[in-house]
Amino acid sequence: MTRGPAGKNIVLIGYRGTGKSTVGRLLAARIGYGFVSTDELIKECAAQSITDFVAAHGWEAFRDLESRVVEECAKGSGAVIDTGGGVVLRPENVTALRAHGLVVWLTADPAAIAERIQDGDDRPALTEGRTFLEEIAEIVNARKPLYECAADCTVATDGQPPEAIASLILERLRASGWFPPGGTA
Ligand code: ADP
Ligand code: MG
Repeated sequence: MTRGPAGKNIVLIGYRGTGKSTVGRLLAARIGYGFVSTDELIKECAAQSITDFVAAHGWEAFRDLESRVVEECAKGSGAVIDTGGGVVLRPENVTALRAHGLVVWLTADPAAIAERIQDGDDRPALTEGRTFLEEIAEIVNARKPLYECAADCTVATDGQPPEAIASLILERLRASGWFPPGGTA
């Protein structure tokens, strides 16, 4: 993994479809940080898609692998870390990510999330017997306290393009003295 200057990591959390991967790449490129996606690393480690991995080994095995990848990614500095939506389910993931990173929670209305992840999203359904929108609303709601607890700041992404979200995050980082590393410029 490539890393940027020796600043702390910037960690993006939030439900799938909130734009973590898209915004994370933009943000990393803009500030010269490395970019790492835990889901991409999991796919590499497993040598298969997440859907196939979960189908073959189950969610618990997926979360175990995720925790190992998160622990590795969370070490060091100078990277934007793009996480999977369920990373907050294990407290040790949050502890590891917060140890060297500022955690930014991206949010979006369930309807916006549903629209964004209609097609092509390589994630298995989590619950059965519900409409897609109901499932999203229910899980977002259930995870809200976990995201809230893990986050240093929150950015709502509804109605704003990814570039604008990256700018908003950067503004927050600058305002709180988190960026640039060392404090000036
Ligand atoms: P995540 O990594 O959080 O699951 P992605 O970055 O993969 O989310 O984004 C999911 C989909 O939503 C992609 O098609 C992406 O282009 C789109 N998207 C991301 N952020 C926004 C946004 N702010 N507004 C509209 N569409 C977005
Ligand atoms: Mg993603």
